[in-house]
Amino acid sequence: MKITFAHMGNLYITVKALLEDLGAEVVVPPMPSKRTLSIGSRYSPEFACLPLKVNIGNYVEALELGADTIAMAGGVGPCRFGMYGEVQREILKALGYEFDMVIIEPPQGRIRHVLEQVGRLVGRNPMRKYVGAVRLAWAKMTAVDELEKAAQRARPFERRRGAATSALGSALKLVDEAAGISQVRRALEEGQEMLRSVQDPTPGASRRNPESPPRIGIVGEVYVVLEPFVNFEVERRLGEMGVLVERSIYIGDWVKEHVFKDFMRLRKSRRPYDLAKPYLCHFVGGHGVETVGHTVEYARRGFDGVIQLAPFTCMPEIVAQDVLPAVSRDLGIPVMTLVFDEHSSDTGVLTRLEAFVDLVERSRRRRRARDGTMG
Ligand code: SF4
Repeated sequence: MKITFAHMGNLYITVKALLEDLGAEVVVPPMPSKRTLSIGSRYSPEFACLPLKVNIGNYVEALELGADTIAMAGGVGPCRFGMYGEVQREILKALGYEFDMVIIEPPQGRIRHVLEQVGRLVGRNPMRKYVGAVRLAWAKMTAVDELEKAAQRARPFERRRGAATSALGSALKLVDEAAGISQVRRALEEGQEMLRSVQDPTPGASRRNPESPPRIGIVGEVYVVLEPFVNFEVERRLGEMGVLVERSIYIGDWVKEHVFKDFMRLRKSRRPYDLAKPYLCHFVGGHGVETVGHTVEYARRGFDGVIQLAPFTCMPEIVAQDVLPAVSRDLGIPVMTLVFDEHSSDTGVLTRLEAFVDLVERSRRRRRARDGTMG
């Protein structure tokens, strides 16, 4: 059995470690590219959301490399994610591919059921093997998050444009190759050192602002927030323009909230829901409510702007987008929405980012002049 799965940012490092440690043979699809998107768009329904299209491209590329089993997460709720598995299975079968698909539904406390589904992928394993594999995968996931955050902090201060991104790439490779938890820890330390060494230690060395770089929060649908190929590397581009970027979601948070807490039947964090309440008080599927809640949180933390990322036709993000102008007006924070589909262009995204960063800086200067502060 050769197992594959779809990409979502650097999640592949965690999933690969988990499955391989449980004895499975894994085929990681090539990183998403124009070819991936073009395959996915050709074979998916036109109005399917972008993540489904890129996933189809990932699966086709992995099946071409010899994968015969697809693992994917199931979902519940008002958006289309719950139908993804079946739709993808039908598309791939219609194309003539022979494969088995294992859809791992949200655990909702049914531990035995999840273990049965995972057992279909990796065969029988003693419990201690599962515990060891989960610990290694967890260590890698945490290291990936830490390194991504360190890269976000380093970019506005890097001496050479692109140095932080290339240090991040080398560090992630070390984490991916680490064979045990102590090696993961060493890889993390080495990676953090690499990311420190690319920065200019001179005070005020930020590329854009001599006092302190502007801070922009990224919110939106989890897939487009985490997958740099589909969001045209928004995070890297902003960082290289001299902006300090923070994301509302990292892989570890997503797994803790949506897999671990669901698995253990623990109460999920209510904070984004409470913050969103004056503007949106119903669950709308996906991450719509979180998008609003995190925008409120960034405004309260004094961020200079927020960018919402959404796939074209994503219902939960359309609802959030409708609400965000009120948040922006009430809390005085500039908010921009970027919507992505297969027709989005690199230049279009770059132009909008540059214009938004200029706007954010102007609004920050006005605010600081009004408050009598520098920067
Ligand atoms: S959250 Fe949006 S993009 Fe994701 S499956 Fe639902 S509708 Fe599609």
